[in-house]
Amino acid sequence: MKRLFALLRQRCPVCLQGPVFRGIFAMHSHCPVCGVKYERETGYFLNSMFIAYTAGFFILVPTAVLLYFLNVSLLVFSTAIILETVIIYPLLFRYARLVWMHGDQVLDPRTAEEQDQPTRM
Ligand SMILES: [Zn+2]
Repeated sequence: MKRLFALLRQRCPVCLQGPVFRGIFAMHSHCPVCGVKYERETGYFLNSMFIAYTAGFFILVPTAVLLYFLNVSLLVFSTAIILETVIIYPLLFRYARLVWMHGDQVLDPRTAEEQDQPTRM
């Protein structure tokens, strides 16, 4: 429940307090509170794209079906879909990454201390 609240408030998946984003699309590289590195490995956020595609599909398809049954013109249909995409894209981008990071933290937990440690032989 605490994690869900942190996810909705767009907070760090490890300490649940530090903000993840510093702009509409710009992310902090590390948590300002606990210092954990958000991008765990190269290409870490690739999986969040699949979450965004899936969520976008389930958001846009009902609109497309509704517009189809309202029998609107192609121009109105295209404009409505493009506008909806532009409006939801920042939210999709952010929450796809957050859902991915929090899900990954639940399945493969890490602490702030074990981050950025050089590999010892
Ligand atoms: Zn943190």
